[in-house]
Amino acid sequence: MTRSYISHVFRFAPSPNGYLHLGHAFSALMNNEMAIASGGNLLLRMEDIDVERCRPEFEQAIYEDLAWLGLSWEAPVRRQSEHFDAYAEALTSLEARGLVYPCFCARSDVIGVAAERPGWPRDPDGSPLYPGTCKRLSPAERRARLAAGQPAALRIDMAAAMAQVRQRIAWREYGTAGERRDIYADPRQWGDAVLARKDIPASYHIAVVVDDAMQGITDVVRGEDLFMATSLHRLLQILLDLPAPSYHHHELLRDAAGRKLSKSLRAKSLRAMHREGVTAADLNEQLGIKRRVFAFAS
Ligand code: GLU
Repeated sequence: MTRSYISHVFRFAPSPNGYLHLGHAFSALMNNEMAIASGGNLLLRMEDIDVERCRPEFEQAIYEDLAWLGLSWEAPVRRQSEHFDAYAEALTSLEARGLVYPCFCARSDVIGVAAERPGWPRDPDGSPLYPGTCKRLSPAERRARLAAGQPAALRIDMAAAMAQVRQRIAWREYGTAGERRDIYADPRQWGDAVLARKDIPASYHIAVVVDDAMQGITDVVRGEDLFMATSLHRLLQILLDLPAPSYHHHELLRDAAGRKLSKSLRAKSLRAMHREGVTAADLNEQLGIKRRVFAFAS
């Protein structure tokens, strides 16, 4: 990672919808140390497209927690909620090529299909694949529903998208010892994934690829829970003619019961640890960050 002459740009991209926990500290410190080791930059990106759930007090807490960890990042802080126009532009370009279609289904409709048919295929996150109901609507019906103001999500037409991509889809993954592997991606596992939600005119997938390109990210360092989603990200990058960063998906920290630390499972927050007298140096040591990054840099 340190041997090439291109300037590396890393990003830490939390969602300000809760307090950061040890898993975030691990990811943030890995990004920070790798940026330092490669002589590159670190950006901080607020992934705040879900404007209902994201709150200014959580964002403020992120700044405080990261400063406590000893991180600094390049100004200004990037913010997804300021990029809805760029996401809309990307979606329009896919739409113009017939690669997305509006979907009027409720989530319960999709789950209903899966529940009725045992063995219905699921995506890598375990959600049932979309059965394609709205893909089969006639153009007239589609227009009528849109004209009537029926809320619609936008889904990728995976079959059409794959038919347009003639190359083999792959990405460059760095392993924990810095070794590189080419991972062959199979975005079809995600089916006709949602690229814009009914309530939010973008989804994580479209936002992340547009932002990574716009911000010149060369190295994406994030949790392995997003490893499989990288297939879909690579497909979108190819369709939108965006550059491909390198990826390192790091292991996830787990609690005593083996569950990944998460906000929803109320993992202990960094600020609670701070209040209990834990220091950033303790955390760095406990997480073995320097040792890990040394493996990459050597
Ligand atoms: N916002 C995501 C999270 O908080 C990270 C997404 C990414 O790094 O691509 O888990």
